[in-house]
Amino acid sequence: MAQDSNGITLWGRVFLRCAVEVVTGLHIGGSQAGITIGGMDNPVIRDALTGRPYLPGSSLKGKMRSLAERAAGATQNWPIGQQVRVHVCNDAASYAACTVCPVFGVLGQMPFSQPTRLLVRDAFLTADSVARLQAARTDLPFTEVKWEAAIDRVTSAATPRQVERVPAGAVFAPVELVYSVYQRRDFENFRTLVRAMQLLEDDYLGGLGSRGGGKVRFVDLTLFTRARDTYTMPEEQRPKHEFTTLDALLEDLDAVLAEIRREISVG
Ligand SMILES: [Zn+2]
Repeated sequence: MAQDSNGITLWGRVFLRCAVEVVTGLHIGGSQAGITIGGMDNPVIRDALTGRPYLPGSSLKGKMRSLAERAAGATQNWPIGQQVRVHVCNDAASYAACTVCPVFGVLGQMPFSQPTRLLVRDAFLTADSVARLQAARTDLPFTEVKWEAAIDRVTSAATPRQVERVPAGAVFAPVELVYSVYQRRDFENFRTLVRAMQLLEDDYLGGLGSRGGGKVRFVDLTLFTRARDTYTMPEEQRPKHEFTTLDALLEDLDAVLAEIRREISVG
């Protein structure tokens, strides 16, 4: 695993595992053409195998990216779709100085871009949440249905519509974030990730944020590393950094980063 075709060395990886607690009803939209239950207008995304709602890693990563872009004041230069623009570095010099693109990646492949440092895996409801939601006899399996008034901006007519949400109190875990270290500056850019998690706690995930939904909290965080030279060492033998809340990690971030730098030595 020393070098890939670009001659880039993977010096090690930081693993951040945590749980995402739903603080206010979470709506991450699924496909209406897919498995919808009861013909919902706005269904949540569900796992095809179990039929349970899940938390797509791409939703988490995409939201953290957009918050990190705004916090960094990065130019929104790249149109995706009709009205949405995102930030993507389009030359080597800005990429080299950017604190967002190396972490979250660039759209498509730029000639100068390196592998995206951050990978966020899909997460599923904990066994405890599954049991509690089953016992609660929710409107639909594992979810609640909220009626919203959709206002037509032209006629001001209010049309009621249903929105499906994962109820407050549900927990998705483990959420695994894997951060690869290719260069020395990646240690410092790890802060971009932790700050984006903090920005997300103050913002919302999925839809309905302006209506109070989508507040989430990161809890029970564990950090450990796998360095290139010790990659095969069993996980149990690795030093772990554990925090009950994201705030606790933020308080200790300098010390944790110093440990990470020691554990993954970049040659
Ligand atoms: Zn950038």
